[in-house]
Amino acid sequence: MTITLHTVAVIGGGTMGAGIAEVAAQQGKRVKLYDINPAAVTGAIEGITKRLDSRVQRGKISASQREAILACLVPAYQLSELSDADLVIEAAAEHCEIKQQLFAKLEDICSEKAIFTSNTSSLSITEIARHLTSPQRVAGLHFFNPAPVMKLVEVVRGIETDEAVIQLLADEVRGWGKQPVICHSTPGFIVNRVARPFYGEAWRALEDRVAAPEVIDSALKDAGGFAMGPLALTDLIGQDVNFAVTCSVYHGFWQDRRFHPSLTQQSLVSAGRLGKKSGRGVYDWSLPHPEVIGEKTVVSRVLKVNRSPAGRLEIDGVSVVPTEGETATCLAVRHQQPVVVYDLSLGSTIVLAASSTNTRQQTESVVHYFQQQGKKVVMITDYPGLLVSRTVAMIINEALDTLQKGIASAEDIDIAMQTGVNYPKGPLAWGAEWGWGRVLTLLENLQHYYGEERYRPCPLLRQKALLAHYAMPRVTESVEVSHV
Ligand code: NAD
Repeated sequence: MTITLHTVAVIGGGTMGAGIAEVAAQQGKRVKLYDINPAAVTGAIEGITKRLDSRVQRGKISASQREAILACLVPAYQLSELSDADLVIEAAAEHCEIKQQLFAKLEDICSEKAIFTSNTSSLSITEIARHLTSPQRVAGLHFFNPAPVMKLVEVVRGIETDEAVIQLLADEVRGWGKQPVICHSTPGFIVNRVARPFYGEAWRALEDRVAAPEVIDSALKDAGGFAMGPLALTDLIGQDVNFAVTCSVYHGFWQDRRFHPSLTQQSLVSAGRLGKKSGRGVYDWSLPHPEVIGEKTVVSRVLKVNRSPAGRLEIDGVSVVPTEGETATCLAVRHQQPVVVYDLSLGSTIVLAASSTNTRQQTESVVHYFQQQGKKVVMITDYPGLLVSRTVAMIINEALDTLQKGIASAEDIDIAMQTGVNYPKGPLAWGAEWGWGRVLTLLENLQHYYGEERYRPCPLLRQKALLAHYAMPRVTESVEVSHV
């Protein structure tokens, strides 16, 4: 499709609309900005002007570039003023009827060649396009907040969307310096779906009283390599916003237990403890963030370290094993030996749990061993899958489910999670590196332990684990099927 998108209409002058208008104007597009509330248009242009002024002061852009960008912004006070738009990006309130009505009116106003997109985070693109005469020109263009900063844009295909429209939009946003990923319209698209276990497992650990919030956050951040702990992140996003996304994905998937919302988070929302914006959420933001001390003092004791030919580690007679989703106590009882299990660790911190049958001295030997390896040790309650491993395994499983159902390509899933939410590795690359068999074993053990659907392994994980076990070539997963 060789169409040049000269004029972009942005609908909604709120947080996202203003950001998207700024991005498009920076590309020299003529941007018509419309909001049902005219004050929002003025407010958006004032906000953009302030941000540009600050960039001029910091030497990021010249004064003439600032002028050129501002000259591209055209306030619109009637929908009819958007008649010459080549591309409409709707960022109005998150209600399906509002979006449907807007596009229905725009079908009469705009040229039949105009492309209609919605920045919705959670609504179905298929549903938004449902009553239109030409639903094939409607797609999702999901920018992340703040739009001028965040590189990722999910280009979302509704059931009727023309493939050429998707490719045109992906090329267009790439030209805007953004990173497009293409996906089908399903609840949460890629990022908001694959990221659910990051929060869900943290709430569960908190509810199961495994560790204090700061310990859970430190495990994911300092051992897991994530940019921020999940609980602190929900406080920053806003408990209400994060809870609403979880509920939307949960209901979107017909109450699939994998996405079950947390009662603790619901209580925070009910109490108005919305996080940083209200002063309190999981944390009290008027106080310094609690520090996780961990076991810091390195003891220069001589330890008896044995490594079996199969790689099994034993410290002073204690079996030290990576978690496979069973508790240390379960392993100790089965093998009639003291056991400490350890978590995935990409950083300077490592999480350990000891069997309740160990003596204090036995567990201490293992703590000293990891300290001597330069790790900060965090001990938690004996919890199957510990904190990082079970979270990462769940994220990998969700990414595989997204891949298996043909929602997006493997490459786009990994790009989305690294670019959209700064994950330290793409979940699919992470799974291959960690070992599909290990991920499968961990999830099977969790499923067995809890007897819950939540931890069910995705069939594609089973196939990959099987082929990896027998060192067979990879599963063919790029079979194109029509997505209905
Ligand atoms: P916002 O509340 O800041 O702004 C919404 C704007 O839409 C308001 O100015 C409102 O006056 C206007 N509006 C409401 N009804 C309208 C109508 N019928 N016609 C024209 N304008 C109308 O909301 P936001 O955070 O900018 O979100 C906008 C959209 O972007 C939503 O669909 C949301 O799901 C999505 N989104 C939000 C974020 C985020 O982090 N805020 C991120 C990605 C996507």
